[in-house]
Amino acid sequence: MAKRDYYDVLGVAKNASDDELKKAFRRLAMKYHPDRNPDDESAEERFKEAREAYEVLSDARKRSAYDQFGHAGVDGGPGGSGGPGGGSFQDIFEDIFGDIFGGGGGGGGRGGGSAVYRGSDLQYNLEMTLEEAVFGSEMKIRVPTLVTCDSCEGSGAAPGTSVETCGTCGGAGRVRMQQGFFSVQQTCPRCRGTGKVIPKPCPKCRGQGRVQDRRTLNVRVPAGVDSGDRIRLAGEGEAGINGGPSGDLYVQVQVKPHRIFTRKGVDLYCEVPVSFATAALGGELEIPTLKGRVSLKVPAETQTGQPFRLRGKGVRSVHGGGEGDLICTVQIETPVKLTREQKQLLSQFEASMQDDGKKHSPQHHGWLDGVRGFFDDLKFWRKS
Ligand SMILES: [Zn+2]
Ligand SMILES: [Zn+2]
Repeated sequence: MAKRDYYDVLGVAKNASDDELKKAFRRLAMKYHPDRNPDDESAEERFKEAREAYEVLSDARKRSAYDQFGHAGVDGGPGGSGGPGGGSFQDIFEDIFGDIFGGGGGGGGRGGGSAVYRGSDLQYNLEMTLEEAVFGSEMKIRVPTLVTCDSCEGSGAAPGTSVETCGTCGGAGRVRMQQGFFSVQQTCPRCRGTGKVIPKPCPKCRGQGRVQDRRTLNVRVPAGVDSGDRIRLAGEGEAGINGGPSGDLYVQVQVKPHRIFTRKGVDLYCEVPVSFATAALGGELEIPTLKGRVSLKVPAETQTGQPFRLRGKGVRSVHGGGEGDLICTVQIETPVKLTREQKQLLSQFEASMQDDGKKHSPQHHGWLDGVRGFFDDLKFWRKS
């Protein structure tokens, strides 16, 4: 069978750069790797073909020989133009396969051996009241997580049995595959890179060494946290694998809406209803704060929506800095459930407002001026 052109095999141009070659080979290797295509002979053929092409073209000397003489230039076997052993090729493949199948190697890295993983980090959304966030609190949470199996103490082996060294790779986690005169190192298919096998898996965790559980944890919420802040509980995430360290738990703070206050940074906002008479005559209001009540003097002729700032009655942030302010916005209330006498008084009052010719309603008069101006403009545009 005639051999295909190496550039055609990889699907690259004759002047392809090393990077392009590597990318093309990676793509083909991912697609046709025997681990991904068990019992598929044509995939295996394509894989071998691509590997051979890449072995030649990724070596500058071999590539130039191939470019000049074609397959005849590089079919010399070991010791041909590549030098004995072809050690550099192995490095290339380890590099590439390390990327592709490196997940199996885990923390063990290139050296192989038992794969030790750190457990995953977890996130937990913790809802709390504004008071709990501002003053800090101690809260209990129940977190679903993977914990070390207590039946096998994380080994994954049934009680009374033990984990054994993988016979296929001798515990290295990686095996060499001889293909022609090239030998390729890859993750051991039997132990999947862990270097260990479990003859009798623990029935509780099915050999995983970890089981799903809920853990109850105490969370100390520091004073001044706000929605979006994260509290890190080191080592409270998922248990590690093969004795690896546990991940961390990140508690995400979520402050529930408050009946009275809205928080923006270190400032608190609230709306204070005021009677129409108090707003007109001025007076003293009782204002709620997170620490108690304070009084606020409102001047005469206070309009609805007018804000009053109470310094230092806000929040002290967990990130430092001084205390914020409490900003109260006055909302003037329309009186309801009026008696006949009260209605009469209001009618008299309204009449007196119109009689004396003074502008008692600044906003209303401003608004009327605006409306008049609007109609004048309209007439002007109609005429022109
Ligand atoms: Zn177990
Ligand atoms: Zn193995």
